[in-house]
Amino acid sequence: MTQPHILQQLIFETQFLLAQGKAVLVVFDIDSTLLDVSPRIERIIHDFADEIVTTDPETAEILKTVRTQKTDWGIRSALERVGLRHEHHEDTVQRIKDFWHARFFSNQYLHLDEPLPGSVEFVNHLYEMGADVAYLTGRDEIRMGPGTAAAMAQHRFPLSPPRARLVLKPRPGIDDFNYKEEWFYAIPKDRYERIWFFENEPVNIAQIRLAHPEVRNIFVDTTHSGKAEPPTDLPVIFDFLWKG
Ligand SMILES: [Mg+2]
Repeated sequence: MTQPHILQQLIFETQFLLAQGKAVLVVFDIDSTLLDVSPRIERIIHDFADEIVTTDPETAEILKTVRTQKTDWGIRSALERVGLRHEHHEDTVQRIKDFWHARFFSNQYLHLDEPLPGSVEFVNHLYEMGADVAYLTGRDEIRMGPGTAAAMAQHRFPLSPPRARLVLKPRPGIDDFNYKEEWFYAIPKDRYERIWFFENEPVNIAQIRLAHPEVRNIFVDTTHSGKAEPPTDLPVIFDFLWKG
């Protein structure tokens, strides 16, 4: 099935079930599912360049040329494209990594993420039809709570409870896949005739498929950790453009 077909079919089925008075829940991961995080990564690397401009102007100049791509996972490939390989520049790369880590998982840069094409429209469309919507993210409340809520509002994703819910991990240090699995156990599943889950991370999809076979997964093929093989037997989309 092509991407427009997958998304149109989902809208059609949702409409059909809602018309029968049944409830539908659509669950979305956030990073690299609804939002492209590559502008956030790029800005952090450029800010690191500003930090070292007097102490290491040569590296700073190289880092200023970094352009991230939607398909980047973390900072490694972006740095490799400008010739900064970990094995040859271990200290520098480690310093960038530490700088990146402290900022990527913070409120400070979240406003830079950009919605994947069609994502805002798609989620609003489902919500306005009457589907419940949940954003189930591996971000945690302590480091990223206010920034996440502000960014989702800034992009005009529906956020009003009870029909739209933003779900963050309470604290860092919990595995995403465990947290997501547990969350699905906790929702009142018998309320819903259908539950869909959009996710870009194969590890999370594999876990949800095992624990919650009734959930219909859609793989968002943007970027992922490489810790598990992408599913080959699920619907795949690249963004949320559905009008074809
Ligand atoms: Mg993600």
